[in-house]
Amino acid sequence: MVFKEFSVYLNGLHIVYLLNPSHRFEFRMLKRPRMMVLHDTGPIPLTIEDYYEKSVNELGQPKTHFVITDTGRIYQTLPINVCGNHVRKRNDISIGVSLHNLTPSKPMSSAMRYSLYKLRDALSVEFGSLKVKTHRELLVDDVKELTDRLGISSEIDFTSLLTLVGSELENYKHRLMDWVRDNIDEPLYTEMLIERIGEVVECPGGYPTYSSIMRSRL
Ligand SMILES: [Zn+2]
Repeated sequence: MVFKEFSVYLNGLHIVYLLNPSHRFEFRMLKRPRMMVLHDTGPIPLTIEDYYEKSVNELGQPKTHFVITDTGRIYQTLPINVCGNHVRKRNDISIGVSLHNLTPSKPMSSAMRYSLYKLRDALSVEFGSLKVKTHRELLVDDVKELTDRLGISSEIDFTSLLTLVGSELENYKHRLMDWVRDNIDEPLYTEMLIERIGEVVECPGGYPTYSSIMRSRL
C-alpha cells in the first residue's frame, strides 16, 4: 500500500487528501450535492488506509468523500465533484462522510463532532445549504415512504426502528417483517417493504439521527 497524502484547503478548512495512486477509478460525475450522509467505518477498528482499501475491494472505489477521525482530523478520499458509493438511490445527490471507528458503545469525541460541523459549513459555502442525515435515518425514511403509501405508518414504531441496537433491533425488524407478511396484501409493495425494513442498519454507531448528534453537543 503506497499512500500519498496532500494538504488541501476547502473554504479555509484544512483537509488531508489521501490517495493510493496504484488504483484506477472510473468515477461518475456528481453535479450538485443536496445532502450530506453520515456513516461509520464499521464494527472492526481499521486504520483510515485499511478502510480505503476495504472500500476499493468491495465497491471499486473509496466509499465516502470524507473520513473524520477521533482527533478531528478530516481525510478526503474522493473529489467532491464525483459520486461516492455509500447509500442506496442517493449517491448522485450526496456527499458521504464516514466517522472513524465509531461504535454504539463509544461516544463521539468533541473533536470529531467539531470537525463534522466545520466540514458541513465548508461544504455549504461550496454548494449552498446541505441537508444532513445519517445513513440509518435515510433508510428509515425509505420505510416510512412505503408505509405512508400503504396507510400503515401508525402501525410501525419508528422510534424503535431508529434507536434500537444490536439484537434488539434485529428482533424488532423480524417482528415487523412477519407482521407485514401476515397483514399486508399488496403483492407489489409487501416484498419491497420487507426488503427496506431488512436494510435498516445502525450506521453511524450509536447516533441514529443527525439531530441526536447536535443534541449530544450539550
Ligand atoms: Zn452507512
